[in-house]
Amino acid sequence: MSGFPPPQVVDDLVLANHILSNEGVLDAFGHVSARHPTTPDRFLISQTRAPELVETGDLQLLDLRGERVAGAEGRSYEEVAIHAAVYRGRSDVGAVVHSHAPSVIPFGVTGVPLRPIYHMGSVIGHEIKVWDIAQRFGETDLLVRAATEADDLAAALGGRTAVLMRGHGCVVTGADLRAAVFAAVYLERNATLLAASLRLGEVRGLSKAETQRASEMLRGRAGDRAWEYWVRRLPHRATNP
Ligand code: MN
Repeated sequence: MSGFPPPQVVDDLVLANHILSNEGVLDAFGHVSARHPTTPDRFLISQTRAPELVETGDLQLLDLRGERVAGAEGRSYEEVAIHAAVYRGRSDVGAVVHSHAPSVIPFGVTGVPLRPIYHMGSVIGHEIKVWDIAQRFGETDLLVRAATEADDLAAALGGRTAVLMRGHGCVVTGADLRAAVFAAVYLERNATLLAASLRLGEVRGLSKAETQRASEMLRGRAGDRAWEYWVRRLPHRATNP
């Protein structure tokens, strides 16, 4: 496909869609994208379709306004503005996940902060802010479509790995697809475990230094190890990893 990233990125994006579905981060909704490695003002994302069903032929190349420049001719996801805004504002980000993972929703609506509580959760970063679309844009249907809304969300993300969206979901970033998938999976797991811990009593999370050290440790080869495992777990890949 003209202008498309190398096959490795295309294949990884299809796998990222399947992994995030299989690991309970995405369902029929939510999406994952990858920035073009050599044309940084383009990113690859599926046309509107449930992530578990995404195939190579569903992928489309968008510019940083969210306009299609190549690939599948179907409708784009309604919220591609989220991805475009993050790529515009963060040159260090190579992949973006937007999910409605159920376990993170309570932390967007209660004021209880989502913080890393175990070493695997350190990849989400020590601080996660909650962005509330109503604060600047009033009572909407909660979807982020306009560039002004998406820029406001990206500003709340700042230089961090993830941001929660009140009454909606979250955005998770990574230097590449494998890092973003890793963080999105462990954001979901950490949220589940934090909710369970809060029911038992006072929670002692990771300190800032522990978060930094553990996440640096995981940024090594752990990503490839997890990726290989998650690929093998895909139902249709069971005999052909
Ligand atoms: Mn959404």
